[in-house]
Amino acid sequence: MQMDELVALCKRRGFLFQSSEIYGGLNGFWDYGPLGVLLKRNVKDAWWHDMVTSHNEMVRDAGAPGTYDMTGLDCTIIMHPQVWKCSGHYDLFHDYMVDCRESKKRYRYDHVKGRWVTGKKHGTDGEPAVEMKVFITTMETEGTQEALQAEAAHFFGLRKKDLESLVWEGPVMAISELDSLENVVGPDAKHPGTLTEPREFNLMFKTTIGALGGEDDVAFLRPETAQGIFVNFKNVCDSTRVKVPVGIAQIGKSFRNEITPRNFTFRSREFEQMEIEFFCHPSESADWYRYWRDRRFNWYTSLGLASDKLRLREHEKAELAHYSVGTADIEYAFPFLPEGDYGELEGVAHRGDFDLRSHMEGKLVREGDQLVLEKGPDGQPKHRGSGKDLTYFDDQRKERFVPHVIEPSSGADRATLAFLCEAYTIDQVPTAEKKEDASRTYMKFHPRLAPIKAAVFPLVKKDGMPEMATEIYSELKKSFAVQYDEKGAVGRRYRRQDEIGTPFCITVDGQSVEDGTVTLRDRDTLEQVRVKRDELLTELKQRLHLS
Ligand code: ATP
Repeated sequence: MQMDELVALCKRRGFLFQSSEIYGGLNGFWDYGPLGVLLKRNVKDAWWHDMVTSHNEMVRDAGAPGTYDMTGLDCTIIMHPQVWKCSGHYDLFHDYMVDCRESKKRYRYDHVKGRWVTGKKHGTDGEPAVEMKVFITTMETEGTQEALQAEAAHFFGLRKKDLESLVWEGPVMAISELDSLENVVGPDAKHPGTLTEPREFNLMFKTTIGALGGEDDVAFLRPETAQGIFVNFKNVCDSTRVKVPVGIAQIGKSFRNEITPRNFTFRSREFEQMEIEFFCHPSESADWYRYWRDRRFNWYTSLGLASDKLRLREHEKAELAHYSVGTADIEYAFPFLPEGDYGELEGVAHRGDFDLRSHMEGKLVREGDQLVLEKGPDGQPKHRGSGKDLTYFDDQRKERFVPHVIEPSSGADRATLAFLCEAYTIDQVPTAEKKEDASRTYMKFHPRLAPIKAAVFPLVKKDGMPEMATEIYSELKKSFAVQYDEKGAVGRRYRRQDEIGTPFCITVDGQSVEDGTVTLRDRDTLEQVRVKRDELLTELKQRLHLS
């Protein structure tokens, strides 16, 4: 599938628009259109339903080490600045970036990849060719040898057939692995050595609280929803009857001033997260980690992500965050990535007691296998915690402890994008319905995610058909999202619904008015069956997995 075809469909049919498009757009910000908002809401509702509301704390889930509680929160986007100091985001949540003096573009230091190459650079105006050894680069997601060949051809002024004269050395690597950027040709530059030394860049958006707006009033837009859950752990335990092990879920907006937002909504500056912080006894945390890792992976497949494009990748020890005992990423082979590459949909992390202890004691750092308070130059704690007791007393074990945390953290926008990519289908099989129009494009959404569940058409605009069709439309609309369409040939109307992924179309024809049956057409199989009008709602609910 070509990504630009999907992007065009998303705009044409009202799934996604660039934010502030009439003013030229704003990089890294996206608006969900009339269908996109329904799709994303369905993704979030499916998550909340499956993780929170349908959870039964008295029944052990398959594969779970025991029974557990599950509840939810909705916290603010702006929190006390101390939260980010203790969580580590204030000091650590940064990326390195390099600027290109020639192209005026900015890149993430670890995203620019390239390879050493020697060749003859042809001068303009007939100047003699000069032999040069340079590090040719491209952006990470296009970091294949083919992309580098194209960049090298451009740099050395070679035609395709002369590329064999180039001598490549060493593996493809990130510029962050090089000792110097002196001979590096930036991804959009024509000369070597135009990249600046890397500089740190904090990814949190800053704002000020109140009218005076001094340094003391600086606050941050949250870069993750998780911290709201940690700082409310005690409130939840004290105000409800939940007991550890307990999962607290939250869906909400997060903001990161990403240096290079790209790949449609995959890396945005404003996005939504769906996070669970699962609190448990330290002795059981490894089992709970495995449980959540597998459960979250299976959630995506249950909603239609094909298992050959989805993978679970355990992090290597060296890749783990400083507090983490184990982390796995759930990744999807997005079509904008090079063959064989995967992008993160969700991270499932075993975070130990790092978060609760940080909010009690202050910012922690690892020393060997211990977490200790980070000290400033004056020997005092660098960032003080709340000083509140966030331990938990387990009355069955008769033990007080700091719970360990397992965090399945997913992005609602990345999940929605994966479901859009997966759904995009071009069907070449000619059928009786399609006749001359042999290829059709349709969005094969899982019925739970489809923005519109059914469409109702009168075959023609007369003989009582529109009246009966509008009645059916009004009846069904009480239960789920339905569209009514009487414009154009019925084949065209089917195509319009296929393109937005509506699983079922109901047509009222001459026979319907006589015997009270309608045709029900299936988006994927194109099969049509006659259904009695008074059995239609039950039949649809069953087919849509709603009953
Ligand atoms: P990446 O390495 O891709 O930047 P991350 O490891 O920083 O992601 P987390 O901090 O683990 O991401 O955030 C949890 C989830 O939030 C991610 O798996 C992703 O689905 C989502 N997410 C994070 N950053 C973005 C973003 N810039 N745009 C859209 N979704 C995001």
